[in-house]
Amino acid sequence: MTEKLALVGIGKIARDQHLPSIYANPDWSLEAAVSRHASVDGVEHFEKLEALLEARPDITTISLAIPPQPRYEYAAMALKAGRHVMLEKPPGQSLAECFALEELARQNGVTIFATWHSRYADCVPDLKAWLAERTLKNLAITWKEDVRRWHPGQEWIWEPGGMGVFDPGINALSILTEIMPYRVHLREATLEFPENRATPIAAHLAFTDPQAGSELTAEFDWRQEGPQTWDILIETDRGSARLSHGGERLEIDGELVKQGANHEYSNLYARMASLVRAGESDMDLSPMIHVCDAFSLGRRLITDPFEF
Ligand code: NAP
Repeated sequence: MTEKLALVGIGKIARDQHLPSIYANPDWSLEAAVSRHASVDGVEHFEKLEALLEARPDITTISLAIPPQPRYEYAAMALKAGRHVMLEKPPGQSLAECFALEELARQNGVTIFATWHSRYADCVPDLKAWLAERTLKNLAITWKEDVRRWHPGQEWIWEPGGMGVFDPGINALSILTEIMPYRVHLREATLEFPENRATPIAAHLAFTDPQAGSELTAEFDWRQEGPQTWDILIETDRGSARLSHGGERLEIDGELVKQGANHEYSNLYARMASLVRAGESDMDLSPMIHVCDAFSLGRRLITDPFEF
C-alpha cells in the first residue's frame, strides 16, 4: 500500500536527495511540503507543521529534512499527532532529545526512524561482512572536506547543536558503528574551534577497543581544499581494506573489489516503508554517543576565525 508522506524543510538535502528518492519509490506518495520559504511544484504547501497536521489527518508519515536544532520540536509535534517520523541525521541536538522522541513514538504507537544515510552506501555491507571474519589491528578514519563547498552559507552548523565538523564526521561514525562487530568507546579527543564560532572546524579522536586492543582513530577537518577525502582504512590479521568515497568504493588488499553508486536515500526510504509496514522503529544512537563523548572528553583548541 502507498503511504502518504509530507516532507518538512525544503533545503539542500531535500532537493538533492529526498525528493528524487520519494518520487522514485511507489511505496510513497508525496502529498505536502512544509517550508517557511520554499515550495515544491505540484505539491500542497504549508508554512507550519501544525497547519498540516490539522488539515491532513490522512498523511501518515512526516519526513524531517531540517537542521538538528529545531528537529525535536517538529518531531514531537508529529509523533503526538500519531504520525510516523523519519529523522535526518543527526536525530537530535542532544541524546536526551532523542530518548524523549523514542519514548513519544512508543507511547503513540508509531514508527520513528533515525536515518544514517552513510550506512546505506553500497559497499558498507561488504566491508562489514569482510571484517566480521577477521581480527582488527588498526582502523583509521579520514573525513576531510571543504566546508565552503558543501555547506555554503549554512550558519546553523556553527551554532550550538549544529555540531560543526561532526555534521559530516557523524557519517563516518555511523559507518564505524555499523561495521564493528562489537562496541568501542572514545578515549580522547582534541577539538579545534574557530575563535568566532561555537562549534569545531576539526576534530582528532582516539578510541579504545576493549576486545582486540586495536588502534582506532578519526581525523575530521573542514579546511580541505582540492580533492576531498571520506576514507576508512582497516588493517586486520588477514589483510587490509580501504572504504572510500564515503562508502561507495571498496578495495581489499589494494585491489578494487566494488565500485558502487549513490543509492543511500533510496535505500533509506525503502527501509522506512518496511519499518512502517512492520510497525517497528529504528533509533540507533551509537554514532551520536561518540559525538557527545567527544564534546565531553575533548580538549579545546582555539584556531583562526572562520567566515564563509
Ligand atoms: P539547509 O538547506 O540549511 O536547511 C534545510 C531546511 O530546513 C531549510 O531550507 C529550512 O527550510 C529549514 N530550516 C532551517 N532552519 C530552520 C529552523 N530554525 N526552523 C525550521 N526550519 C528550519 O540544511 P540541509 O543541508 O538540507 O541539512 C538538513 C539536515 O540534513 C541536516 O541535519 C544535515 O546534517 C542533513 N544532511 C545534509 C546533507 C547535505 O549535503 N546538505 C547531507 C546529508 C544530510 P525553510 O526555511 O524553507 O522552512
